[in-house]
Amino acid sequence: MKNERIINVAVAGACGRMGSTIISLLQKTQDMKAVWIFESKNHPSIGAEVFPGLIVRDNFEKCPAADVLIDFTTPEATMENIEIATKKKIKAVIGTTGFSQEHIDKIKSVAKEIPVLVSPNMSIGVNIMMKLVELATTMLGKDYEVEIVETHHHNKKDAPSGTALRIGEIINNVRGKQAREGFIYGRSGTPGPRTPDEIGIHAIRISDVVGEHSVMFGGRGEILEISHRCFTREAFAQGALIAARFIIGKETGFYQMADVIDWLM
Ligand code: NAP
Repeated sequence: MKNERIINVAVAGACGRMGSTIISLLQKTQDMKAVWIFESKNHPSIGAEVFPGLIVRDNFEKCPAADVLIDFTTPEATMENIEIATKKKIKAVIGTTGFSQEHIDKIKSVAKEIPVLVSPNMSIGVNIMMKLVELATTMLGKDYEVEIVETHHHNKKDAPSGTALRIGEIINNVRGKQAREGFIYGRSGTPGPRTPDEIGIHAIRISDVVGEHSVMFGGRGEILEISHRCFTREAFAQGALIAARFIIGKETGFYQMADVIDWLM
């Protein structure tokens, strides 16, 4: 599973919550090394040695030969960074969430030139949860009602979370439906009785919760609940590093964490 040489990593959003967690973890990891860490142009930490031996840069263009870009920033920043990664032939692991379909289409076209892995949730536990959701949906059939609840910290920009949407898409895929068919984002007013096909998605924003997801399958007289709780961002950072080890062995292609889970098995 391990690569023979050290993997050189460029980290976008170096001073952000995820970027800084990834750099700290890289500094404790033997087979990987942060070689270029960068931030948005006017970030106050540009030029500072925020992490031992690493200066925060204000661009990705000048990055020396890195093998992989790990990017947890904003959709706009990721789209710029991926263009540069393509020119520089640097493989990309993208954890940013909140992409539009147009963004995803663009990333998929870039993936014809470099390998790109995109996942709204890099936690290994959450991705195993998704496999369990797929299995439960197949086994329970179409008669079970589905509701998804996610909870995140009060600074999260997008809602519902990319992970909650992905869980709903997996269920729809198993049921032979369009990706986001029947999604209902919260309920208010007088929505009336629930229709059998809808998938309710609820976003709670409170305190400093790192990330919680729960899927409920409701049948006659029973509810099956599959849930996952993330206590620290290290769960995502660790998954991103495993994804980088996975993608280093690829030449082109669009990948998701499900591919990494299959690779780990
Ligand atoms: P954050 O703390 O706001 O960090 C984002 C960082 O990116 C900020 O430091 C920001 O700088 C920087 N940035 C903005 N534009 C940039 C550019 N052009 N080049 C380089 N850096 C740039 O957010 P976060 O909590 O770390 O989350 C980042 C993203 O990852 C979000 O989309 C979040 O939803 C997602 N996320 C994904 C996972 C997963 O497992 N996939 C887990 C957690 C979070 P400024 O502050 O100057 O704008």
